[in-house]
Amino acid sequence: MPNFVLPDGAFEEAARRFPTPFHLYDEQGIRSNARALNAAFSWCEDFEEYFAVKALPNPAILRILKEEKCGVDCSSETELMLAKACGFSGRDVMFSANAMPDDEFRMARELGAYVNLDDISHIDILRAHGGIPETVCCRYNPGGDFKIGTFVMGNPGEAKYGFTYPQLQEGLAQLRELGAKRFGLHAFLSSNTIDNDYYPTLARILFETGKVLAEETGLALAFINLSGGVGIPYRPEDNKPDIAAIGAAVRRVYEEVFPQGGVAIKTELGRWMTGPNGWLVTHATHHKDTYKHYIGLDACAANLMRPAMYGAYHHITVCGKREAPCDHVYDVTGCLCENNDKFAIDRPLPEINEGDLVVIHDTGAHGYAMGYNYNGRLRSAEVLLTAAGDYRLIRRAETPRDYFATLDIDESAEALGLR
Ligand SMILES: *Cc1c(COP(=O)(O)O)cnc(C)c1O
Repeated sequence: MPNFVLPDGAFEEAARRFPTPFHLYDEQGIRSNARALNAAFSWCEDFEEYFAVKALPNPAILRILKEEKCGVDCSSETELMLAKACGFSGRDVMFSANAMPDDEFRMARELGAYVNLDDISHIDILRAHGGIPETVCCRYNPGGDFKIGTFVMGNPGEAKYGFTYPQLQEGLAQLRELGAKRFGLHAFLSSNTIDNDYYPTLARILFETGKVLAEETGLALAFINLSGGVGIPYRPEDNKPDIAAIGAAVRRVYEEVFPQGGVAIKTELGRWMTGPNGWLVTHATHHKDTYKHYIGLDACAANLMRPAMYGAYHHITVCGKREAPCDHVYDVTGCLCENNDKFAIDRPLPEINEGDLVVIHDTGAHGYAMGYNYNGRLRSAEVLLTAAGDYRLIRRAETPRDYFATLDIDESAEALGLR
């Protein structure tokens, strides 16, 4: 079930204070998730969650997570800058490499971050840009299909990430030559997985692979990084992953493979941490009846791209109408000149009138963050419902001035009121 912890009154109050659309985040919910995760892995010495900054890159949120003893997982110059600005450094930062500019490796090293290499070619880049640290992490891609039991859950062989096994053998040997003493092993094999067996299945692969690689290379296995991928129930019929059960199941595998202990566990959850604790709050502004029935919102895919990009389901409720029968079928759209710009297609909903407050659920991860400026549409504000019950603007909405800031339009800037 999507998260119904906030009553309609909370959205109505927020919409009295701030113009829609905006994303509203629930501080209490984010803190509870961080605590539940830390409790689920408290059996593991040196466990740390590195929140995937890309999921919700807002300093107010990162500071909350810092208070909850989380680190951050960064993948770009600006994410590293954001982490630094929020006081993260050293071993509380994971830098997940990719096909990125070489200088970002140096930035990560200067911050003292763990560097998680994505490819064997990154070893030379890191050596030349920041140097090889004593502890270095490598991302593993086992290829083929990734199965939980008999179900194919992912397709690592088609994914752009990670080292092959022979590359890990060769790469770790090189790293050892270059002075590394310990390594971490990381893999992300299936996204948004609500099956409780995802982490335990992944853990077994990584534990066993890491153990053999340590024996083969003589490097010590410092940690296993289970990365992100634990999902959330976007659909009413979806189950919520049970993080306590997941932690306990990973523990059983751990005790089997590492009876002596000594290997830390890291996670990089994004979606699971904040996804259910965000809502896109909008007003219905238009309705249209042609071959189908349409409701137009004051938000569009620029504010939440997942439905347009992946056909993703986001639950929708109408304030004051939770108990009303869902006896109308609508396409719920935004204002982009792009036919994909639909938050829902053929969705049974209560009758929606212009002016109704329409809430799109589970936008707390990969929501605002994936926003863009197509059609000249501007990104929305972000509002935090604090644990004390206040509504705090944690990012103002963009204005045309922001849109034009990267353009040089000379004299006409004055005419447009931009100067
Ligand atoms: C995106 C990403 C995550 C977070 O993924 P979720 O699906 O939000 O849990 C974690 N680690 C890395 C390297 C990622 O790219």
